[in-house]
Amino acid sequence: MSRPIRARINLSALQHNLLVARRHVPACKAWAVIKANAYGHGVLRAAKALAGEGSADGFALVELENAIVLREAGIQQPILMMEGFYSAEELSLFARYDLQPVLHDLERVSAFCAVNLERPLGVHLKLNTGMNRLGLNPEEMDLALSKLESCGHVASICLMTHFADADEPRGIEEQLARFEAMRGGRDLPISVANSAALLRFPKQVGGEGDWVRPGIMLYGASPFPAMQDALALGLQPVMTLESELIAVRDLQPGDRVGYAGNFVAPSAMRVGVVACGYGDGYPRHAPTGTPVLVDGVRSRVLGRVSMDKICVDLTNVPSARMGSVVTLWGMNGEARLDADDVATAAGTVAYELFCALASRVPVIEESV
Ligand SMILES: *Cc1c(COP(=O)(O)O)cnc(C)c1O
Repeated sequence: MSRPIRARINLSALQHNLLVARRHVPACKAWAVIKANAYGHGVLRAAKALAGEGSADGFALVELENAIVLREAGIQQPILMMEGFYSAEELSLFARYDLQPVLHDLERVSAFCAVNLERPLGVHLKLNTGMNRLGLNPEEMDLALSKLESCGHVASICLMTHFADADEPRGIEEQLARFEAMRGGRDLPISVANSAALLRFPKQVGGEGDWVRPGIMLYGASPFPAMQDALALGLQPVMTLESELIAVRDLQPGDRVGYAGNFVAPSAMRVGVVACGYGDGYPRHAPTGTPVLVDGVRSRVLGRVSMDKICVDLTNVPSARMGSVVTLWGMNGEARLDADDVATAAGTVAYELFCALASRVPVIEESV
């Protein structure tokens, strides 16, 4: 017998969520963002599920070794390397595997143009419009573009930026205005929108021939859960993290639960012990009250999360017994618990929960 924890990855939900993204921006092409092992869902699994007819137009990530994995597995769509190259020596691999770099500073532009490449590559020129991480400043634009235009191995140029506040009250207006000023009427395709921007500002983030870069929404989480939840956005959870009750016990008033005993039973109650903990990727900071489904019924975490176990309240689940299915997030039949709800309770975001899924958790693929 193996430990009963598993992550179920619903590939139909992944495909559905990409269609939701496309419906918002039907004229745009979509880079499906699959960095960080497809936000913990499995990079090759996600790419294969999204490589079919009418699906993703390309894949965007930051890990060269994963891009090579995709090519060796036969993925033929364009691949965008969103952090570009880290050292110019990698560029021969970019050419061999037909990977498009993001060029985000003048040094990278020069280095790209200085090498000999076995084939021309498309490039994204990244502009800093206010996030102040990567990207060219306005005064560097003309030089970068003239270098690229006179470079023999540039197949295409797309202008790119990334928004700091697409999911915040500030929105994208200011950054978009700076972007348009830097673009200066040039007739080049653009790539500006993450999930939040394409959901909130679909009319402003591009048209025919432009690209969008949805990530988190593909995995069924909302980029702004406090404003609009995943259900309201029409998104379906892709990852279900589930385990089972491996013990059930009755507590007397005053009994304490778990490390430090920071949950104290106020009255007689039944609690369950779940084979899942921070060693599986469950957030250790999830406090008492964090939602969980037991046999599909919404309940709550009690006491401190430990490495292999958490305790849950069975007061409202009289049917619960050893072996009952516990859904940490995702679906159990019709019952749904969004990772966003768990993340909010634990003071983080669904992105982090998904990425933290531990390698010891077996993954099961499904299409339903
Ligand atoms: C991760 C990333 C995205 C996707 O963002 P989501 O919020 O997950 O949609 C888009 N663009 C860039 C440059 C990124 O790094």
